Amino acid sequence: MLEVKNLHVTVEDAEILKGIDLTVNAGEIHAIMGPNGSGKSTFAKVLAGHPAYEITEGDIVYKGESILEMEPEERAQAGVFLAFQYPVEVPGVSNAAFLRQAYNSIREARGEDTLDPLQFDDHVRERLGLVDMAPEMLDRSVNVGFSGGEKKRNEILQMAVLEPALALLDETDSGLDIDALRTVADGINKLHGDDDAVVMVTHYQRLLNYITPDVVHVMVDGRIAKSGSKELALELEERGYDWVIKEVKGS
Ligand code: ADP
Ligand code: MG
Ligand code: MG
Repeated sequence: MLEVKNLHVTVEDAEILKGIDLTVNAGEIHAIMGPNGSGKSTFAKVLAGHPAYEITEGDIVYKGESILEMEPEERAQAGVFLAFQYPVEVPGVSNAAFLRQAYNSIREARGEDTLDPLQFDDHVRERLGLVDMAPEMLDRSVNVGFSGGEKKRNEILQMAVLEPALALLDETDSGLDIDALRTVADGINKLHGDDDAVVMVTHYQRLLNYITPDVVHVMVDGRIAKSGSKELALELEERGYDWVIKEVKGS
């Protein structure tokens, strides 16, 4: 699904990612943890094609092909979804219209018929239950006046509607109370299957109480300093990140 090779990324002349290697297979969930400022969000944005970052070395191979030259829209159409891309507020555009447009652009890219508002309504309503969202939320302007929790649920609704092959979730757990966290985690678990992969960035272990990652990575200073099983996340929760940082410095 995804093979990142020796990825180096610079922003405004500062090197932020310093040689990331990561392989994610279909059916897997990978968690990327690490201290603030280590480059986790940068990595997620670079995978989605954010234009602010310059790739100076390395490659991103998605489904067997390098996507470095692909625009963010093309990556989205190819099935790469970054939750972070969408929580912008869009006054005057209903959530339903916004979702339909994103969904139709993916269908068009695949050579499939687009859905009219009524057909799309069926598609989206089926998925509302996944995130425990009231149908009224579809008629409201995108994210305008949504609470933090509602925005996060809306991200997962977007994911449910767009059915990405590779979902990148950046701090989807931040600002959620325990019930919303469970709802969001349940939604992700239901959407994830053998044909797709999830890479989730999380600063805290608590989301991993509900979503079991196949692999946990720790990013330190723009590199993946350590990878392990879900037990690694528990160890990080208990011991913090300092010991990993010391391991890196000592080596
Ligand atoms: P994390 O998500 O792990 O907390 P980030 O990827 O957000 O880390 O940031 C990594 C480092 O890159 C930080 O030092 C941050 O200040 C810097 N950085 C990220 N994006 C930019 C940008 N657009 N301009 C300048 N510095 C940036
Ligand atoms: Mg799996
Ligand atoms: Mg971040």
